[in-house]
Amino acid sequence: MNKRKITNQIQVGSVAVGGDAPVSVQSMTTTKTADVDATLAQVYALAGAGADIVRITCNDVAAAQGLAEILPRSPVPIIADIHFQYRLALAALEAGVDGLRLNPGNIRKADHIKVVAAAAADRGVPIRIGVNAGSLDRDLLRKYGSPVPQALVDSAVAEVRLLEDVGFTDIKISVKHSDVPSMVESYRLLSEAVDYPLHLGVTEAGPPPAGLMKSVAGIAALLLEGIGDTIRFSLTAEPVEEAEAGRRLLEQLGLRELSGLDLIACPSCGRAEVDVVAVVTEAQAALEAENLPIQVAIMGCVVNGPGEAREADIGIAAGKGKGHLFIRGKVVRVVPEAEMVSALVEEARRLADEGVEARLAAADGVAEELARQTAAELLAARGDVDHAEERKARVAEVARGD
Ligand code: SF4
Repeated sequence: MNKRKITNQIQVGSVAVGGDAPVSVQSMTTTKTADVDATLAQVYALAGAGADIVRITCNDVAAAQGLAEILPRSPVPIIADIHFQYRLALAALEAGVDGLRLNPGNIRKADHIKVVAAAAADRGVPIRIGVNAGSLDRDLLRKYGSPVPQALVDSAVAEVRLLEDVGFTDIKISVKHSDVPSMVESYRLLSEAVDYPLHLGVTEAGPPPAGLMKSVAGIAALLLEGIGDTIRFSLTAEPVEEAEAGRRLLEQLGLRELSGLDLIACPSCGRAEVDVVAVVTEAQAALEAENLPIQVAIMGCVVNGPGEAREADIGIAAGKGKGHLFIRGKVVRVVPEAEMVSALVEEARRLADEGVEARLAAADGVAEELARQTAAELLAARGDVDHAEERKARVAEVARGD
């Protein structure tokens, strides 16, 4: 991973964005903002799934009034999403929001933007300039012919200049595109042009799994380059799914501590001694109910399993009707195959309570040797299922021209 670009830090309510602050996860509610209870319930669900900041639409007066009720009860900072009507930005500020998102493509009058900036400055509230390929400023669209990355960046920079003209620099920016390579290029260009924190996202990514793939491809590519301060997965799905996806992506990139189960499982192959998919499905449900922040491996055979998954906190590998329970690659217990999942869950619980060293010390002294014997027996009985020796002999024959 490249060294992260240190951008200017801003404060969205209690959450710092940019600079050396952790990359944050954002999501957006789908309820009518005027329905305060439903919106708050969704905000809580999003926060529980990993969202640090939640955006809520402020599309009419009733929505702005809803925000006034939601803000004091929200567990996370709230950003008001504003399109077309600058007065609703003023109303959202009055309601007490922690941030504004303005779309330069549809709030076009410089005077209006400056009025909003002055009101936001008075309250110490940051503004996100949210450029979107689908709603790009029509002059730029005419100039470039299509929403190419440079057009998105020009739109963002023009809006930045308007805000800077009135001394407003409490800014974060997004240049979202639905095409992944265009999105990545837009942010690269923007990152070179400005030092403001960047909010990453692939817009209108669509439903999972394709929407997840697009979002991961674009957001992860940039984060790995050191670009990006806050992220959103824009999925056509329940909002908690996007908050959870964002959180999980940061966990997998090492940008956030693991908050729940990280399940490693082999893809299965001809050596598998159990139905790996069935065991994983059962174990996943049982382990998720425990909500333990540990890495668990489920491997189809003891021949390769414990070694391949030696980085996992705990794991289990099948072989000859038994489950071989291992901790950091060392087999600590052998259980009947039917008890694989229950033994794994029980050991995971104890590992979370007592720690790795204590559980390794409590290992069954003969388990490691039993696993070695089973692996040797399986190798002897099944032999070389990949037919490597046969194939190597044939390759040699071909090379010799036999
Ligand atoms: S752990 Fe065993 S069953 Fe799973 S992929 Fe590796 S060799 Fe195949």
